[in-house]
Amino acid sequence: MTDEGLYEFEYGDCESSGLLHDENGFPSFQDNDDDDDDEEEEEEKEESFADDFYRCGTHWSCLLQTERKLKQANLFDMWGLKSNSESEANCLFSPPMKKLKASNGKSKATHLKKIADRSCPFYKKIPGTPFTVDAFRYGSIKGCSAYFLTHFHYDHYGGLGKRWSHGPIYCSPLTARLVRMCLLVNPSYIHPLELNTEHVIDGVKVTLLEANHCPGAALIHFRLQDGQCYLHTGDFRASRLMQSYPLLVNHRVNVLYLDTTYCNPKYKFPSKEDVLNYVVRVTKNCLKKQPKTLVVVGAYSIGKESVFLAISKALGVKIYANASRRRVLQSFDWPELSGNLCTQGNDTLLHVLPMSSLKFETLKDYLKPYGNQYAAVLAFRPTGWTYSETVGNQLDLIRPLSRGNITIYGVPYSEHSSFTELREFVQFLRPDKIIPTVNVWNAASREKMQSFFREWLSCKKLMI
Ligand SMILES: [Zn+2]
Repeated sequence: MTDEGLYEFEYGDCESSGLLHDENGFPSFQDNDDDDDDEEEEEEKEESFADDFYRCGTHWSCLLQTERKLKQANLFDMWGLKSNSESEANCLFSPPMKKLKASNGKSKATHLKKIADRSCPFYKKIPGTPFTVDAFRYGSIKGCSAYFLTHFHYDHYGGLGKRWSHGPIYCSPLTARLVRMCLLVNPSYIHPLELNTEHVIDGVKVTLLEANHCPGAALIHFRLQDGQCYLHTGDFRASRLMQSYPLLVNHRVNVLYLDTTYCNPKYKFPSKEDVLNYVVRVTKNCLKKQPKTLVVVGAYSIGKESVFLAISKALGVKIYANASRRRVLQSFDWPELSGNLCTQGNDTLLHVLPMSSLKFETLKDYLKPYGNQYAAVLAFRPTGWTYSETVGNQLDLIRPLSRGNITIYGVPYSEHSSFTELREFVQFLRPDKIIPTVNVWNAASREKMQSFFREWLSCKKLMI
């Protein structure tokens, strides 16, 4: 979660605001890095959720403080203190919305001061090293000689742009391509690190591991000269496969920086595979009943590719996405994806649209030009936030929303760990200390998470 905190919640998710980004949620390829834009962006953040988040404290001690209640009601939703409302959640988790063009006349000096005033939270700094992780929105960070980026979701790379000059950026090769292509960062600052390979940076052994989140996302493992090991998960979906990563098997992790997006017992998602099978089953059934159906998959900037790939494979059809999305998808260099993209919407029944387009009116309008080919739309919104405790793992209990010839399924396809996956991962690693990186802005939320961590680590046996 924006992803940071709940607020990323698959924050690629949030990029679909269409203001900082294009309609697909991709960073605008226009010159969006000029001073005015930056200033406006900083302005917009001033009253954003992110600001509340950072105001909560940047030191270890903030994990212990009892502090004023912030206005993020979603925390209360999370802990079951208030009925869950998706619309409310969406509102709360939305990224900072860029104000519509408004000339504020404030000076660049004010703008720079604002950046300087926003200090980097402690949990983005790796102790005993000159490293930070996903900390690009604080300007130049004193003492930082290497800026690590876990993945290409806005809440993690925010602050990066073509004028970046604060230091070298380390990330996976795929993320590096996106940083260069979409954000126009000067290539001399970008240092791709191959996954599963030990790199020595400033005397620290650094290894990137597959994070099972969006394409290019990596866990970052730091092994210091004094033997201390730190693992930063960025955003990830914990999997059994991770329990076979030699680095994690052979070296005790002293401090775990953990993506706690869904660290609440109510989140017990089905596996990705189960959701993909379900999506394919629903699609096939629907096409049996109405062969003239246009199938739409909602997606953020990057992430959720497996959903439309699964449908493409099962039906043997190509995937249509618009030019900006195709450009990004092709940059992944995945032959099975690149080879199945097509450039014309009427060449295939499978289309990828921004998640924000999955509304009845929008889909109805989208269908119009294809009126001769298709009589109905079947759309999928794949996100963990569609998870319902009532449905649980019984996906067949999902009831779609239908209006006329448009049907929309919310399916709990999550690229973050469920509660049980987090527990299993923590019980496998048994770190000395866990620093949550999401939902940390509220004392009650932090205390609740710490109590889970204590419980998990006090158990001798795995609770699976
Ligand atoms: Zn993410």
